[in-house]
Amino acid sequence: MDLGRFAIRILLVEDDDDIAGRLATGLRPAGFVVDRAKNGEDGYAMGAHDQFDAAILDLGLPQMQGLTVLRKWRADKRDMPVLILTAHGTWTEKVEGLNAGADDYITKPFHIPEVVARLRALMRRKSGAASPVLTHKDINLDTVAGKATVGGKEVELTASELRMLTYFMHRPGRVISQSELMEHLYALEASAESNTIEVYISRLRRKLGRNVITTVRGLGYRMD
Ligand code: CA
Repeated sequence: MDLGRFAIRILLVEDDDDIAGRLATGLRPAGFVVDRAKNGEDGYAMGAHDQFDAAILDLGLPQMQGLTVLRKWRADKRDMPVLILTAHGTWTEKVEGLNAGADDYITKPFHIPEVVARLRALMRRKSGAASPVLTHKDINLDTVAGKATVGGKEVELTASELRMLTYFMHRPGRVISQSELMEHLYALEASAESNTIEVYISRLRRKLGRNVITTVRGLGYRMD
């Protein structure tokens, strides 16, 4: 799904018309396009089925509470950055929200420039991950569905191969050392050995094409 290069799409789930209006008006000049849901159920459905770069989620919502919306998104593997709106002085809400998968929070009443700055910071942190489909030459990788295709044909990859491919796809043209890759894969595979990386590289080459990943002698590997 192409989000377009300049429009940053934000899902706003907020039942209060004044707050929603203020956010939509305030965020527009900063380059954000705001889609609003007025209740938790609609908000959940929009966030589950559409692509957004980030979401602003009020916690006190009709039909479905904000925390429930957030937990359901995360259970659905929706990984967009989520900024929760909490009432002043309710630190427990912030803790619950962060534990439920929120990336940051903002306390009401808020100032628009602070919301803009926090959204930008969240998107920088998640850069590249906001759109679930990565493309490099004829390789397409849907990081949400965990599916890769080469020239439109689906390729079967194991979880670790997918993880390694994702790592390369986020860093095209950059030399990545063996130790960097080891660190990245090690969390998954406690039994990682020094030749593990070479094994994965050769498997990826076999499945995706010989020239997909180049060996840079003495330095590591690069996706060209
Ligand atoms: Ca509310």
